[in-house]
Amino acid sequence: MKKILAGLILAAVSLSSFADDYDKILARLNTLDQLPNTTLFSLGKNDQNRDIMGIIVGDESRAKTKHVVVGTHHGNERAAAEVPVFFAELVIQSYDPSVLYYIIPVLNISGYNVYRRGETGADGKVHDSNRDYEDACTTKQDFVLKSTALIAELIEREDVVTAVSVHGYVGTFTYPWGTEARNYATEDDAFFSEWAKKAVKINNYKIGTHGAAIYPATGAFEDWAYYKLGVWSFLLEIKSPSSDLKRDAQSLVEFFKNSPSERSLKVGQQVNCMDRILKSLGNSRP
Ligand SMILES: [Zn+2]
Repeated sequence: MKKILAGLILAAVSLSSFADDYDKILARLNTLDQLPNTTLFSLGKNDQNRDIMGIIVGDESRAKTKHVVVGTHHGNERAAAEVPVFFAELVIQSYDPSVLYYIIPVLNISGYNVYRRGETGADGKVHDSNRDYEDACTTKQDFVLKSTALIAELIEREDVVTAVSVHGYVGTFTYPWGTEARNYATEDDAFFSEWAKKAVKINNYKIGTHGAAIYPATGAFEDWAYYKLGVWSFLLEIKSPSSDLKRDAQSLVEFFKNSPSERSLKVGQQVNCMDRILKSLGNSRP
């Protein structure tokens, strides 16, 4: 309890010295860091030389399975920063030493601070972070942004099994494919669907593939993690304006309870891509 109070006081004291919105996220991460089984960590420095911070819930030496929850690829989707923080609070409360979570509430710091979807790159231009990953259906330049390269490195290096990327505001919980494919069903489609159904019993979100349930887009995080590494990767689109963010976080807790302990074996499976003209349209969609 003393530790919790210390964290709250620390957060309150620093309230007056917030330089920007991301500082408020950092204060909340510092508060979580006062709780047991947590470690504050930096993913690395982004293109503005700013540390992308997250919280680890778990013990490296004991955990058998590692997962990722990453929020706010799109800086204007504000609730996408909240759900990962609520999720961290819940998994700290119901601590399971066999599992470790890397939780990063805000990947796109420059966008978050100005309520903008895109992220500023080293070239000074604004890029869509969730179109910056390697994709089975395009030959575009990948990993222009440091933030996306850094989270990709973490997932690869730490052998992450399951990942959820949090966005807003469609009210869906979806799985690959999302790229410009003729057929969105992967070889794991039945498994993805059954798993997703259990998670959305809590928030009643619509499930399906990203491409069918939302819209197709090339270069997204979720397709990359699954296609390249076999990571079980899901996209949580928080519903607005009526969503209960704590319930969304609870649905993620249930979701991870049902995670396999190993990645999918269907790595690098063939994707039935649309033709090149349609593919380039994918990058300009909202
Ligand atoms: Zn988004």
